[in-house]
Amino acid sequence: MPKLIKERVSTPERPVEERTKDFGEVNLGYTFELAVKEAERCLQCPENYAPCIKGCPVHINIPGFIAKIKEGDIESALRIIWNDNTLPAITGRVCPQEDQCEGACVVGKVGQAVNIGKLERFVADYARKHGIEEELLCEFEEKCSGALGNVAVVGAGPAGLTCAGELAKMGYSVTIYEALHKPGGVLIYGIPEFRLPKEILNHELAKLNRLGVRILTDHVVGKTVTIEELLEEYDAVFIGTGAGTPKLLNIPGILLDRIYSANEFLTRINLMKAYAFPNYDTPIAIGKRVVVIGAGNTAMDAARSALRLGAEVIIAYRRGEEDVSAREEEVVHAKEEGVKFMYFVQPVEFLGENGKVKAVRFEKMEPLEEKDHKGKRKIRPTGEYVTVEADTVIIAIGLEPNKIISDGTGLKTNPDGTLVVDENLMTSILGVFAGGDAIRGEATVILAMGDGKRAAKAIDEYIRTKMSS
Ligand code: FAD
Ligand code: SF4
Ligand code: SF4
Repeated sequence: MPKLIKERVSTPERPVEERTKDFGEVNLGYTFELAVKEAERCLQCPENYAPCIKGCPVHINIPGFIAKIKEGDIESALRIIWNDNTLPAITGRVCPQEDQCEGACVVGKVGQAVNIGKLERFVADYARKHGIEEELLCEFEEKCSGALGNVAVVGAGPAGLTCAGELAKMGYSVTIYEALHKPGGVLIYGIPEFRLPKEILNHELAKLNRLGVRILTDHVVGKTVTIEELLEEYDAVFIGTGAGTPKLLNIPGILLDRIYSANEFLTRINLMKAYAFPNYDTPIAIGKRVVVIGAGNTAMDAARSALRLGAEVIIAYRRGEEDVSAREEEVVHAKEEGVKFMYFVQPVEFLGENGKVKAVRFEKMEPLEEKDHKGKRKIRPTGEYVTVEADTVIIAIGLEPNKIISDGTGLKTNPDGTLVVDENLMTSILGVFAGGDAIRGEATVILAMGDGKRAAKAIDEYIRTKMSS
């Protein structure tokens, strides 16, 4: 039995004063030696018991791949991870590990949990940099005949990309229809470079290309082409259109200039590289004081991006610190970088001058003991107000699916706009499957990927049955 070591081997990070001047990645990841040292902390719980495996939504054999790191056999570690997750360089960086695999780790009960996410990222990064993926990819390529049938995938986010990759490996010919001019979904337009360098995503897209997956960008399904048209051309369709429509605040002043939804703000920065203006065409002017409303990952990404554009940033949240839903690491980084937090404040009005926002008026809230259905403490208004000056306001209070895909198609939806699916992820239209945020609302990358993988299996079964009947 390995010795219990309570403290984690930390991963190197770029110093605050350096990293806040650019959009380069903050966490530098483990070196080989550090990864082996951290791997030695794993107690190697038996596979049928290991709580970390149960905590991972796609049930990666975590003790299995960590044991291989300890042996220095990174190719075998990668093979074990790829059995359940083909995008470990991404999930290792963005999964909310503290609520999933690491939240369940037994070492975490007496000390710091094994750093599973960073070890997963290490395996993926090491394999990519040392050409280890190549052999595995060649094995996959051999299976990619494209002869089993044709499938259309709508949306090139983690759900669509995973579904496409799995189907291609099974032997299907897959075409992805993506509305934007670049594939990746939130991974390309939402999550900034300092958390997920775009070269990682580009590498994953190149792998899909090698598996024969075709990606058609600038294709809005529901406008450019309809679901019915896709069903005429393909044996099955998978919808992974996400939840990209921002929720806004219906309060006075909402139409003032320089009030952005976080999605618009982040898209301008990540997809259109507004921070590199005039080298890129899209400028962004935010002034000196930025208020971000909300406290999820989107809020944290918007706040840290605004900070890198030179602003002083305040995150304003209607609940308390214990209910902040962003990944723990992002909150720590945001605080280190100088983002300020205001808790128990609810915006009630945006105040303006010459058509531009100049301040936000908040009502102070009071926490109650009682919790709501999500386990968060309920709050109530106090009748007391506070005003905060702002040159720019970014609203990050949640997202919902857009209706382009469901309007007029006969696809059944739930009251929150998510698509209705059965236990095989089939929608109300025969042969049309769906997964990711389009069926869950705002969720996580790994849940979207898990859906993509499950749907690929269901599509395979559906097409085989159809062909044999
Ligand atoms: P998406 O990633 O939204 O992809 C959907 C794709 O479909 C998009 O490319 C879109 O353009 C395309 N599309 C939409 N409609 C159509 C149409 N009609 N025709 C063709 N294409 C269409 N999760 C984490 O696990 N960790 C994080 O750290 C994290 N941070 C986040 C930060 C931000 C800023 C945001 C917004 C979300 C974050 N999330 C995070 C959530 C996570 O990114 C999503 O749960 C995940 O991306 C959902 O994947 P998806 O494939 O279902 O949808
Ligand atoms: Fe943990 Fe996410 Fe990797 Fe699963 S996919 S082991 S939850 S980091
Ligand atoms: Fe290792 Fe923790 Fe998983 Fe046990 S629960 S196998 S110690 S990572």
